[in-house]
Amino acid sequence: MVTLLTTNGQAPFITVFMYLGEARNDAERADLALIIEEMLLQRIQGVKNEKGVWVTPAFPKLIYVLEEDNIHEDSRYWYLTQLAARCTAKRMVPDYISEKKMLELKVDKNGEGHCYTCMGCRSFLTPYVDENGQPKYYGRFNQGVVTINLPDVALSSGGNLEKFWKIFDERLELCHRALMCRHERLKGTLSDAAPILWQYGACARLKKGEPIDKLLYGGYSTISLGYAGLYECVKYMTGKSHTDPSATPFALEIMNYMNDACRRWKAQHNIDFSLYGTPLESTTYKFAKCLQKRFGVIEGITDKGYITNSYHVHVTEPIDAFQKLAFEAQFQALSPGGAISYVEVPDMQNNLDAVLEVMKFIYDHIIYAELNTKSDYCQVCGWDGQIDIVERDGKLIWKCPNCGNTDQDKMNVARRTCGYIGTQFWNQGRTQEIKDRVLHL
Ligand SMILES: [Zn+2]
Repeated sequence: MVTLLTTNGQAPFITVFMYLGEARNDAERADLALIIEEMLLQRIQGVKNEKGVWVTPAFPKLIYVLEEDNIHEDSRYWYLTQLAARCTAKRMVPDYISEKKMLELKVDKNGEGHCYTCMGCRSFLTPYVDENGQPKYYGRFNQGVVTINLPDVALSSGGNLEKFWKIFDERLELCHRALMCRHERLKGTLSDAAPILWQYGACARLKKGEPIDKLLYGGYSTISLGYAGLYECVKYMTGKSHTDPSATPFALEIMNYMNDACRRWKAQHNIDFSLYGTPLESTTYKFAKCLQKRFGVIEGITDKGYITNSYHVHVTEPIDAFQKLAFEAQFQALSPGGAISYVEVPDMQNNLDAVLEVMKFIYDHIIYAELNTKSDYCQVCGWDGQIDIVERDGKLIWKCPNCGNTDQDKMNVARRTCGYIGTQFWNQGRTQEIKDRVLHL
């Protein structure tokens, strides 16, 4: 899978979920541990680029589950966790899911907690039991996402709180209608449209010519209300970052309000609506440009080429890794449709103890988090470190700090743009966001 390409030369969007808890007995667990070990060793080595240099591949994305069996220094699979830390320091993956927090927060109607993978980079299914009362996660899917631009709600209200909630209602209703368009578009689809999905078992084993409709209801699949820019929204309405203790309750109120809307729609349609921290890959630039066009440049709110992802602390705000994860955990718990937190770190290859400390903290505090390390390569001079972003003629460009090379075709840059690693460079808004990031360790 590491070297697999699609017919047009792209790496397929595959996520590998490394979870010892899926083994049914000790023998299976021992086999699984061998596979996980080999997966990590191959990723540490990397993949050869066209020049024959070992570089960081974007896919498959790796997720490593932290659990009682591997997170304590005296636990049986601690050596795998150490290897995972080495891999993260070198290649930015794996990302980490805490079994402990999953079991606490992903509780089904039988009262049982479950640990399972996200779909792709961060989209989480909600807990579900089938007609026999059995938990089911593999095979289920999501019907789509529509994202609400929270700073736009705030700016449209002009800072008036009463107007804010009224406009929020209107925008949520717009999202509701847009989500139902996605749903209606899927309704009536026959299993023949994609046999590998609907007939051969990837999602279901329906008959030929059978509509997929029954899979759209009752929580088998989800549909997601995405949100973006909680930071800018709260900052405009309160004058403070949502990390400020006096502004945090308002931020949480907004999260609860969106969850309430999802609950209402779910009751109305028998479709599992869930709140989702949208990845916002290039949409961050689009939203930012739209805000500037509608409201002009407002310092600290619309003066960037990006808006802040989901509930995240603003990328320029100084905060240490542990405080950031602890703060963001309360918002992640309110994003049942999925979300991921990250900490931005320098080159950690000579400080794996610090990486392991962050991993232990993740285990105790937050469902899902990742460490953004730096792993670039200049093909002109062979520089193997961080390639910088500099401004030239009002445009942001990538530049080798060693030889000054600015030819993007002659460098390999890997950055996390939330959830997935990107290696194909980014639009100006996202590039500015990457440049602005402060370190958390
Ligand atoms: Zn160079």
